Amino acid sequence: MKNANGHEIIQLFESWSPKKLACMDNDPIGLAIGTLNKEVTKVLVTLDVNDKVADEAIAKGCQLIIAHHPPIFRKLSNLRTDTPAGKLYEKLIKNDIAVYAAHTNLDVADGGVNDLLAEALLLENIEILEKTYHENLMKLALFVPDEYAEKVRHALAKAGAGSIGNYDSCSFSTNGQGRFRALEGANPFIGDIGEMEKTDEEKIEVVFTQSIKNKVLKAMLNAHPYEEPAYDLYTLAVETNEMGLGRVGKLKEPMTLESFAEHVKSQLDVPRVRVVGDTSTLISKVAVVGGDGNKYIHTAKRSGADVFVTGDIGFHIAQDAESIGLNIVDPGHHVEKVMIKGVAEKMDGLCSQAKLSVEFVQSEIDTEPFTFI
Ligand SMILES: [Zn+2]
Repeated sequence: MKNANGHEIIQLFESWSPKKLACMDNDPIGLAIGTLNKEVTKVLVTLDVNDKVADEAIAKGCQLIIAHHPPIFRKLSNLRTDTPAGKLYEKLIKNDIAVYAAHTNLDVADGGVNDLLAEALLLENIEILEKTYHENLMKLALFVPDEYAEKVRHALAKAGAGSIGNYDSCSFSTNGQGRFRALEGANPFIGDIGEMEKTDEEKIEVVFTQSIKNKVLKAMLNAHPYEEPAYDLYTLAVETNEMGLGRVGKLKEPMTLESFAEHVKSQLDVPRVRVVGDTSTLISKVAVVGGDGNKYIHTAKRSGADVFVTGDIGFHIAQDAESIGLNIVDPGHHVEKVMIKGVAEKMDGLCSQAKLSVEFVQSEIDTEPFTFI
C-alpha cells in the first residue's frame, strides 16, 4: 500500500464515473474547491456540502470531500465571506479541504445513484430508463506482411481491440498483395529505393470502442514492421456501451401501491412519501430516477412501469401523471443519500485494488432540509 495523491484517487473515481457521462448542460462537476495536488489519506463522502459537513470533514481529518451535489452550482459573482455560501467556501479553503463533485455523471454511472436506488428497492432485471450515452464502434483495417500478422493481431487484442460481448481477440483476415515504391529518404523494411515492390500481405480487420482508439492505434503502429503502415480507420453505425439516466426493474412479487409505498419508506429510510394513484393498484414494474424526476413522467409511462419513484414532484406534474395513468411514489430528493455508502464502498474497492492507502469516511450529517410533522 502506498500513500495516495488526490489526482490518483479521482483518476480511479473517473474510471468508474467519467465526466463524459454527465447528461445536464453545464453540470458543474469535477473539482470545485481547493486542489487535488496533495496527499490525501481520508476522503469524506457526502450527498451535500454544508457548514456541518465541512465541520465533520475537519473533525475527521479529511483532506478531500466527494459530493453528489455540486457545492458551487450557479456562477459566482463575488467571493464575499459575509454570506453563508462564501463563509463555507472560506472554511473549506482555510482548512485545505478540496471538494470534488460528481453529479449527473454519478446518476448515469453503472453502480451509481440510480442503480443504488434500484437495488435498495430490491428491483430485479434492472434496465436503463432513458439512454443518455453511447459510443460508436470503430473499425480498423490494416495491411501487414504475412509473417508479422500474428504479432500485430496479438498487440491489437492486448490493447482491447476485437472484444465483442463474451469474446475477445476477434478479427478477420484476407490475403492479398501490397504494392509500393520507396522514395529517396525512406528506410524500407522490404525492397529498395526507387524500385516497385510487391509483397504478400494480410488485411486484418478489428472493431473496438471509440474510447480506446488511441491505445489501439499505438499498439498497431508499435507492432507493425513498416515505416509507414497503411490502414483504414472508420466509425461504424453500431452503438455500444449504452448508459443512461434512471432505472426500470421488476419487484420479486407484485404488491399494491399502498404496500409498495411502505416498502419505499422502509427500504429508502424515509418517514413519509407522497403518492399519486389508486393505492389498491397492483405494482410489479417500477421506474426510478434519483433526485428531481419531474421531466421523466412520460418516459416512465412509456417504459411500461406501474409506478414511478422520484423526488420533488410538482403539483401540476402530479396532475399530469394522474391524467396519463402513471402512479407515483415521491420519497423526496434526499433518498439520494444512498450514494454515500455506495460511493464509499466502491472507492474503497478501487483504491485497495490499486494498493492506495486511503480511507473513505461516510458522512453522518443529515442534510435533509425538511422535517416531517
Ligand atoms: Zn440530487
